[in-house]
Amino acid sequence: MTKRSKGRRVALVTGANKGIGFEISRQLAGQGMTVVIGARNEARVAEAATRLRSEGLDIHHVRLDVTDLKTIEPLPQFFEEQFGGLDILVNNAAILLDEGTPFDELEINVLRKTFETNFFGVFAVTKALLPLIRRSEMGRIVNLSSELGSLADLSDPESPYAGFLSFAYSASKVSLNALTVLLAKELRGSGVKVNSADPGWVKTDMGTEAAPLTPEEGADTPVWLATLPADGPTGGFFSSRQPLAW
Ligand code: NAP
Repeated sequence: MTKRSKGRRVALVTGANKGIGFEISRQLAGQGMTVVIGARNEARVAEAATRLRSEGLDIHHVRLDVTDLKTIEPLPQFFEEQFGGLDILVNNAAILLDEGTPFDELEINVLRKTFETNFFGVFAVTKALLPLIRRSEMGRIVNLSSELGSLADLSDPESPYAGFLSFAYSASKVSLNALTVLLAKELRGSGVKVNSADPGWVKTDMGTEAAPLTPEEGADTPVWLATLPADGPTGGFFSSRQPLAW
């Protein structure tokens, strides 16, 4: 059994077998944390953990499909028994299914599936782990959102993303931002901070090779929010470590 060594923070990053989640995990572990990477495919998450451990990082893995309660329900006991608690939750897992799909052609099942991962999945994982995070002296929850989830940006005809269609994805990230604000409101005064991060447009399977930012750059704001000091913000939306309009 592995119990955490004194003072070592413990983090869970969802959807961390690749992309920005993988890099967030690397950077958090690089700061001396114990990081558990979660992903839905056992072989892929184990392989990702092996790669990160080969860099000398304290990385563990768990099979976690954020749409499957059977994989979520054991998490509190897992963290309690293995590490004596949990300090940081990075809700990174997400899907983008409707890029370029106009409203008229969007099937309601695609909308439902998108919300199942990007919104209900975050709710379920966060709800399960909140009792542990509340007990932490440095509880931090970071929700990976997007500029495509900013109502201010979506309403702006001059936005660089004005021509980009993704009704389901954007609506799910707008809702995720609401979760950030509503949970931060309930947790005010508790010491637990909840924030949304826009990583920018990042070269990953989701962001494609056309994106200007590397995963290392995309991970910067989420990692900053995951490690905020006690006087840091809560209930905010940030991009490049700066406030972003809702
Ligand atoms: P990505 O490369 O597509 O990786 C997404 C990760 O989420 C993968 O590990 C995927 O696992 C996992 N995932 C999907 N559904 C899951 C589920 N039900 N349970 C557990 N894991 C699941 O995407 P990314 O670009 O790194 O994006 C990471 C986050 O940043 C997302 O929240 C995304 O919306 C946000 N974001 C990205 C960009 C960008 O430009 N890339 C911009 C703004 C915001 P599999 O390998 O099994 O599919």
